[in-house]
Amino acid sequence: HNSKLPNVGTTIFSIMSGLAKTHNAINLSQGFPDFGSDQKLIDLVSNAMNSGHNQYAPMAGNLELRKAIAKKMDVLYNSTYHPENEITITSGATQAISTILSTFIRQDDEVIVFKPAYDSYEPGVKLNGGRVVSIQLQAPTFSVDWGLVKSKINSHTKMIIINTPHNPSGTVFSKDDMLALERVTKDTNIIVLSDEVYEHMIYDDEKHQSACLFPDLKSRTFVVASFCKTFHNTGWRIGYCCAPKALMELFIQVHQFSVFCVHHPTQKGIADYMQEPKHYLELSAFYQKKRDLFLSLIKNSRFNFTPSKGTYFQVLDYSNITQEYDVDFARRLTIDFGLASIPLSVFNENNLDNKVLRFCFAKKDDTLKRAAEILNQI
Ligand code: GLN
Repeated sequence: HNSKLPNVGTTIFSIMSGLAKTHNAINLSQGFPDFGSDQKLIDLVSNAMNSGHNQYAPMAGNLELRKAIAKKMDVLYNSTYHPENEITITSGATQAISTILSTFIRQDDEVIVFKPAYDSYEPGVKLNGGRVVSIQLQAPTFSVDWGLVKSKINSHTKMIIINTPHNPSGTVFSKDDMLALERVTKDTNIIVLSDEVYEHMIYDDEKHQSACLFPDLKSRTFVVASFCKTFHNTGWRIGYCCAPKALMELFIQVHQFSVFCVHHPTQKGIADYMQEPKHYLELSAFYQKKRDLFLSLIKNSRFNFTPSKGTYFQVLDYSNITQEYDVDFARRLTIDFGLASIPLSVFNENNLDNKVLRFCFAKKDDTLKRAAEILNQI
């Protein structure tokens, strides 16, 4: 037999984390913190189990959590989503993305994806018979030519996937980008999947431009987000998506038969934890400090960089150091120097190699210091 994805290898995140483990390297590859989740949150989840939240949640998820999300969307973006029928809790953002794709993508539908792109988008489109129409963005600015996007839109275009703040580049879409997206999709049936899992990690004077801030755009958009990144528990797999009722009704049709609902006590614990907005509002300042520490430690290294504007990733350009293919250099850095990262070419169209590696700075200060020592030697 063949799977429906015969030509995909193992995801780069498992490969690099595995290589880091084998060679006992500092792991700045796969994006997850090396510090724990807040004990208060762990206690709330454990309270939820002890107080009997151990049976199925409603299909769309624990209602208190959906209400807490609705409140957050209202307070932060002045945007209304009804907790009863416009918000669904998923197993991480990854399941939201996969379910959105299986709900809407049919044979020969086209999906516009900006490269470098998070590695689950393209397989998800193909699994459903769709075709990816790639638009390659170039380091270091990764900016979008919206005229080019417009020229790629035709009667087969079913969806556009965006991701801001952007993994892996750490760039963010401006208000003008969002207005351009709104314009090119106006009066079309195109659905927008807006992956906003890093919404609470945004630096300097940037502001997160959620798709829900733009009413016409919002009417055709799924906003996808996740608590895994926000509350430092990537293994809990609790994410969610928000969309207008007409779209969410269709999503639920597929969601009910793929997972029915996700882990209930964790949802209840997170709902209680979200009653204090500081738990997510303080995240940008927390990670900006880590970014600044990391960059100040490597400012005299031979790597070139533009400070990340969002996400917990920093890309470093190594073209001053070697002309090696980025996958080879990332391997050598892990095996010979003891530091794991992610090569960007694996997210690019035709494996385009811009000589750029991605490093995750969601790490203890001590880990960042040890990593910087290595980068300074190279
Ligand atoms: N989102 C994380 C990253 O980009 C990893 C996710 C995963 O391993 N599936 O590093």
